[in-house]
Amino acid sequence: MATELLVLAGERKEAADGSTFEVIEPGTGGPMVDVAEAGAEDAKRAVDIAVRAFEEGAWRRMSATERGRVLLRASTLFRERLETFAAAESRNAGKPINAARGEMGIVANTLEYWGGAANKIFGETIPVQDPGLDVSLREPVGVCALITPWNFPLVIATWKIAPSLACGNAIIVKPATYTPLTVLMLADLLVEAGLPPETMSVLPGPGRTAGTALVTDPRINKVGFTGSTAVGAEIMRQAADNITRVSLELGGKSANVVFADADMDLCVEKSMWSIFDNTGQDCTSRSRMFVERPVYDEFIERFAKRTAELRVGRPDDETTDLGPMISASQRQTSLDYINIGIDEGARLVTGGDVPPEPPNGFYIRPAILADVDNSWRVAREEIFGPVVCVMPFDTEEDAIRLANDTPYGLSGSIWTRDLGRAIRVAKGIRTGVLSVNSAHSVHTEAPFGGYKQSGIGREMGMHAVNLYTEVKNVFFSEL
Ligand code: NAD
Repeated sequence: MATELLVLAGERKEAADGSTFEVIEPGTGGPMVDVAEAGAEDAKRAVDIAVRAFEEGAWRRMSATERGRVLLRASTLFRERLETFAAAESRNAGKPINAARGEMGIVANTLEYWGGAANKIFGETIPVQDPGLDVSLREPVGVCALITPWNFPLVIATWKIAPSLACGNAIIVKPATYTPLTVLMLADLLVEAGLPPETMSVLPGPGRTAGTALVTDPRINKVGFTGSTAVGAEIMRQAADNITRVSLELGGKSANVVFADADMDLCVEKSMWSIFDNTGQDCTSRSRMFVERPVYDEFIERFAKRTAELRVGRPDDETTDLGPMISASQRQTSLDYINIGIDEGARLVTGGDVPPEPPNGFYIRPAILADVDNSWRVAREEIFGPVVCVMPFDTEEDAIRLANDTPYGLSGSIWTRDLGRAIRVAKGIRTGVLSVNSAHSVHTEAPFGGYKQSGIGREMGMHAVNLYTEVKNVFFSEL
């Protein structure tokens, strides 16, 4: 079997100790490729390279316009090869090929956005009281460690890679162990587009070795992390000793609030995708659905009917709606939570079992648990699979209180035709992103991130500039 190597300063290298690990294809459950496994020594090599690159400044000192052109060239090259990237992502992460194509479109858009944004990152002049000129500069933060999860491997990596490069930083990416392939491919493409090779390294490998070695290295200026809340907390602790800057995009348990006056056809269809898309492995998934009591039974009936029609199948099948989960253990976690919910008193309306077809791989039928209480474990803990909890509510105040009664605050949706109510509820829910009469709460051009235990900081749109720059204030005296 072929071995994919690390990317160090634009070159493919074996791990320092020669270790490799096997990447499994979720659609078949079989081995896909061996990958060089980065350890602490590789992390040190990558930081050495990045520090030198940042100090020498080939990228940092390049004009912002030229940096932007590199990202724009990367976007063009990426679009030309979109199908190759989509096929790799689909196989590696188990995504239906159509969904993978859509995600690769987001990657191209993100590169394009930051290509255009690079020369629009600027500071301020400030009217201070002393005679002179006061300016604040936006400078790159330095060497960034970007640690990413497996659920949207290349999309989430690019949400960090593109803005951090646009701001002039040197970067080291640590993709999730399950899904390193497309980030390695993107690193090659960026060098082809003109990125000075030493500006970016990619270290596939386990979080506890390569990841920890990066986070605790005092020469890392910034950690951009997306992953679980538990690991996010650990990263904050590890970063504390060196006061390393961290931004964290973490877990969620978002609410979908359905009022009786909603457009029910639209609401049922979009709500279904808002939890089951990517087989429920989505931090923004609306895994708690609150439905106003007069339409509670009707909503569940229609929602269950459509959910049972979803086609669970192989990722390379163009007609597949839901692919497999990423691993046997993630699927087992979902199956366990379904049983926990039933033990707590939930009614399993549909799904929640392993389909007979396809025969291998980590497939599961999407599950609806109804009549859940918001205090139960299934309603409080992030399952990160195709399992939704449905609960009734009686008043607008109730809906807001229930939506907020969670440690998380990442996403959510509100369904109503009453504009005043939409505004009141949107203001009442404590969450980083919300959509009204839509399940679409993540946009390349708009800020994204969480309240409470869902994270710290806002990625995407020009808000990401705050994550990847330092502000330097300089006062010039007139005297
Ligand atoms: P995870 O926290 O297990 O791993 C995320 C990354 O951190 C991986 O690259 C992993 O190798 C690395 N890591 C693990 N332990 C580490 C350590 N001690 N030090 C440094 N790095 C370490 O998450 P996952 O299972 O890959 O992804 C699923 C989780 O990510 C879910 O909780 C989901 O909600 C969350 N997520 C959040 C967002 C968001 O934007 N808020 C987006 C996608 C996923």
